[in-house]
Amino acid sequence: MGLSARVRDEFPLLGQSAHGKPIVYLDSAATSQKPREVIDALVRYYEEYNANVHRGIYAIAEKATLAYEEARGKVAGFINARRPEEVVFTRGTTEAINLVAYAWGLHSLRAGDEIILTTMEHHSNLVPWQLIAGMTGARLKFWDFDGEGKISLEELDRLLTGRTRMVALAHQSNVLGTFNPVAEAARRARAAGALVLVDAAQSVPHMPVDVQQLGADFVAFSGHKMCGPTGIGALWARYEHLEALQPFHGGGEMIMLVELDRSTYKEPPWKFEAGTPNIAGAIVWGAAVDYLTRIGMEAIRAHEQQLTGYALVQLQEIKGLRIHGPKNPAERGGAIAFSMDGVHPHDIAQVLDQEGICVRAGHHCTQPLHRRLGVAATVRASLYLYNTADDIDALVRGLDKVLAYFAPSRRSGVGAEGRRGA
Ligand code: PMP
Repeated sequence: MGLSARVRDEFPLLGQSAHGKPIVYLDSAATSQKPREVIDALVRYYEEYNANVHRGIYAIAEKATLAYEEARGKVAGFINARRPEEVVFTRGTTEAINLVAYAWGLHSLRAGDEIILTTMEHHSNLVPWQLIAGMTGARLKFWDFDGEGKISLEELDRLLTGRTRMVALAHQSNVLGTFNPVAEAARRARAAGALVLVDAAQSVPHMPVDVQQLGADFVAFSGHKMCGPTGIGALWARYEHLEALQPFHGGGEMIMLVELDRSTYKEPPWKFEAGTPNIAGAIVWGAAVDYLTRIGMEAIRAHEQQLTGYALVQLQEIKGLRIHGPKNPAERGGAIAFSMDGVHPHDIAQVLDQEGICVRAGHHCTQPLHRRLGVAATVRASLYLYNTADDIDALVRGLDKVLAYFAPSRRSGVGAEGRRGA
């Protein structure tokens, strides 16, 4: 698992400790850590050319504007958009989905129209549609997953009707890890006359994503999950959609001409970027895109797939531990949620925390998914380019401590000593 030996040292936080133990960071599905060069780009922006964009005509304002628009080009290139203007900067995935729900859904949906969502969606790809359905009379229909955490295209075919206007689904589930067949879903949904939105919050950071190959109408993702800062993300959309949509927010900078009683708007994407944007966020996200591009998304995916395979094998050896989601690492990413019989997820996370291990316990913003699994909460360990097999070994040793506290009779005895590298 060669990638991380080189990469790990570039992340200052991974050299820190917690409770006197070196940090083992296994919560990248919540947010990723940042490499030194990304942190440096943030400092450089504020020290050298902090100014508002698209306004000033002095040197640093022009430099900031150029860097902001260059960052748009970098993000567009990263996902192979046809042009930078197809990328709207937002606060993140959540705001990008809300943009579509309000700017498109509120104006276009009629009573009885149908929106298809999977039952594994993050709340950010569920609640906006509930709100819009409530306002328009549109109906939500749910595309359920099977016992292995997978959705079938036959089920989509069954759900699609002449009233389906939108199919919105995650590319990778943030809990089950499942890669959903988004390209084929997009082909079938669009053939049926529906639009397709892909929540790519958990895919763009972890694998090559080409929006032209995906064939969807809208793709949403966040900078902070891909080595960039918080508070910045993007909506990619086919340019003709952006031209047709109403603005989502009104205010400064998104206008051409303002009268007292009406306004005309700029071209996309600026029509959707009212007010002072997250200038630092966008520019620093651009630095993160440069970083990931240099390492290579194919290499990152290969590393994570190998490490996920290793983690799945190790975790399944623990008695009473159940992994939710596919067991084949080729079909899934490195967000691994699990339950341990008789032990509360928060207790697990607390014991692991004492060992310096950062995992997340809870519903991970997917309450319906957890209800569907029949559990209130799970523990989630999630991987990224900087994780190593040693991190997995530390997790397994930590889980052995959990068993020692809560279920000593289930300990196999290999947890602490018998594993690779321990
Ligand atoms: N969708 C998925 C699948 C996610 O994992 C997340 C983040 N946990 C989001 C949407 C929301 O992203 P953000 O909080 O960055 O808007």
